[in-house]
Amino acid sequence: MAPEEDFDYEALLDRAKKDLPQTLEAHDRFQIPEPDVMIEGKTTVIRNFGVIAETLRRDPAHLYGYLLRELGTAGSLEGSRVVFKGKVGTAQIVDRIRSYVEEYVLCSECDRPDTRIVKDGRILILTCETCGAHRPVHVRKQAKQEEAKDIEAGKTYDLMIEDIGKKGDGLARKGKYVIYVPGSAKGTQVKVRIDKVSGNMAFGTRVA
Ligand SMILES: [Zn+2]
Repeated sequence: MAPEEDFDYEALLDRAKKDLPQTLEAHDRFQIPEPDVMIEGKTTVIRNFGVIAETLRRDPAHLYGYLLRELGTAGSLEGSRVVFKGKVGTAQIVDRIRSYVEEYVLCSECDRPDTRIVKDGRILILTCETCGAHRPVHVRKQAKQEEAKDIEAGKTYDLMIEDIGKKGDGLARKGKYVIYVPGSAKGTQVKVRIDKVSGNMAFGTRVA
């Protein structure tokens, strides 16, 4: 092997080792603020709407318009609060804000929220400031459905334990998933039954 190739391989390996735990850590840190929802007479108020939009770094009017459409209600944007007509459940609001984040905020490559939306003609492009990836908005859901074939709960996969997490669990990768496998040593090939899939993470039990 030429010395140059040798060097490249080492550099890649180093990067792979460094990247794994950092990505997980970063993923854990991002949290959507819990909406502060209050029923006022015949209306539903999100009192910290301004804070939510600010955390997501999105135009409040954009998020507001999305929620109106998704919740199928009317309302008004009043400064840093939003008032919906009728009673809207908190769980429903939380769920819709999550979908908004999936669609308009999170990078599909690194899963970080540090993104901007830029217009390219009539197409909205989500640009990631963390990893530099671009994607048109609305395609994340599709991408996720394809990814879902990579890992499914209840199925068993042959995986390579690439690293050990902070709590001592083995970490493996498949597609865009990082799989936690307790009780497995780094560098070993294991058979893992997936117990749970959550976002880009999965949790499995070693079966062989
Ligand atoms: Zn990214």
